[in-house]
Amino acid sequence: MAGSPDFDLYRTSEEHDMLRETVRALAEAKIAPYAAEVDEQARFPREALDALVAADLQAVHVPEAFGGAGADALATVIVIEEVARVCASSSLIPAVNKLGSLPVILSGSEDLKKKYLAPLAKGEAMFSYCLSEPDAGSDAAGMKTRAVRDGDYWVLNGVKRWITNAGESEYYTVMAVTDPEKRSKGISAFVVEKSDEGVSFGAPEKKLGIKGSPTREVYLDNVRIPADRMIGAEGTGFATAMKTLDHTRITIAAQALGIAQGALDYAKGYVQERKQFGKPIGDFQGVQFMLADMAMKLEAARQLTYAAAAKSERVDADLTFFGAAAKCYASDAAMEITLDAIQLLGGYGYTRDYPVERMMRDAKITQLYEGTNQIQRIVMARNLPK
Ligand SMILES: Cc1cc2nc3c(=O)[nH]c(=O)nc-3n(C[C@H](O)[C@H](O)[C@H](O)COP(=O)(O)OP(=O)(O)OC[C@H]3O[C@@H](n4cnc5c(N)ncnc54)[C@H](O)[C@@H]3O)c2cc1C
Repeated sequence: MAGSPDFDLYRTSEEHDMLRETVRALAEAKIAPYAAEVDEQARFPREALDALVAADLQAVHVPEAFGGAGADALATVIVIEEVARVCASSSLIPAVNKLGSLPVILSGSEDLKKKYLAPLAKGEAMFSYCLSEPDAGSDAAGMKTRAVRDGDYWVLNGVKRWITNAGESEYYTVMAVTDPEKRSKGISAFVVEKSDEGVSFGAPEKKLGIKGSPTREVYLDNVRIPADRMIGAEGTGFATAMKTLDHTRITIAAQALGIAQGALDYAKGYVQERKQFGKPIGDFQGVQFMLADMAMKLEAARQLTYAAAAKSERVDADLTFFGAAAKCYASDAAMEITLDAIQLLGGYGYTRDYPVERMMRDAKITQLYEGTNQIQRIVMARNLPK
């Protein structure tokens, strides 16, 4: 089997391995030192943004034609994974830059791509993705935000909820109803700018985890934007939003892998240091078996995620199944692994003096956003492999 094209695609290349080394060194030196503080103070990880921008790692997925690094889906996964290993909140910078901008990359006009991707690639602007609303979460097509045509303009009104990096991002991909009769086929996508008149933000949500990543409502109050800010044709916004998620659920899987790896690495070190009954607790088979299970689940999740990333790169016919499966499996694994890491640290694991409780709180979100894991199972069931 070795050397067959499929097998190669599941493996990382030398370039991918070098990228991992680079990101790991940067994350440990410039992001990890602030991770606990960012969580404790629920503040935006500015140091992480600066470090990622200085190393051109804030949006590696942007194609070279628009000034980006043109990194493939697996390279993007590796960047997110390594940042999440030390700080899940910070990993939402590259992850949501991809989520917010992918509708433009997949369906936008050349002019839109030129205008909005170059500042993203240069680190001058971040991109957010506005699909969810107060009454439209899992049933995103039930959204109420309206866009009404007025000559050469569209006028947007509505409330988007749970928007990651809202207030920090310059650009927002906003899905809005342009024809209420047609439900999902009457939804269109637009680029809205933070500086557009009528755009404002709610107070940051007070969350269980990823506290350093701002999550806010976005209010659209008679926001008048030029018609050429529509992404793709009228009525294609929902399809673009779903196509985007096929690719970006893999980045949430990457985040889950990173969080789980961080917890496993910490627990592995701890069990060598902590002594009970006159020896390191890592000498007990009961502890070794837990670590073995954690590593096994993590590696299975990683293989599925990398396979999904290869499918994202090739836009394979079974990408929808694989994207949902990777996100669902890796996030469930991360939840189990981070809980086990707390268990291995005993009472100490339950305190904020150690990072594993933060990692457990951060892992929980990966089971919820970009579609809950029940929704992933619906998506998988509708797209079972042939
Ligand atoms: C921190 C955070 C960041 C987020 N960032 C973004 C963002 O940047 N952009 C964005 O657009 N959205 C974002 N979201 C929104 C997120 O995607 C939604 O919260 C998620 O899709 C679930 O929607 P909901 O919260 O309304 O839950 P609901 O849809 O109300 O679901 C509640 C429960 O019912 C279950 N359920 C619903 N329907 C079914 C069904 N048919 N079958 C079985 N079970 C079902 C769900 O699985 C869940 O357990 C974010 C959310 C959070 C918490």
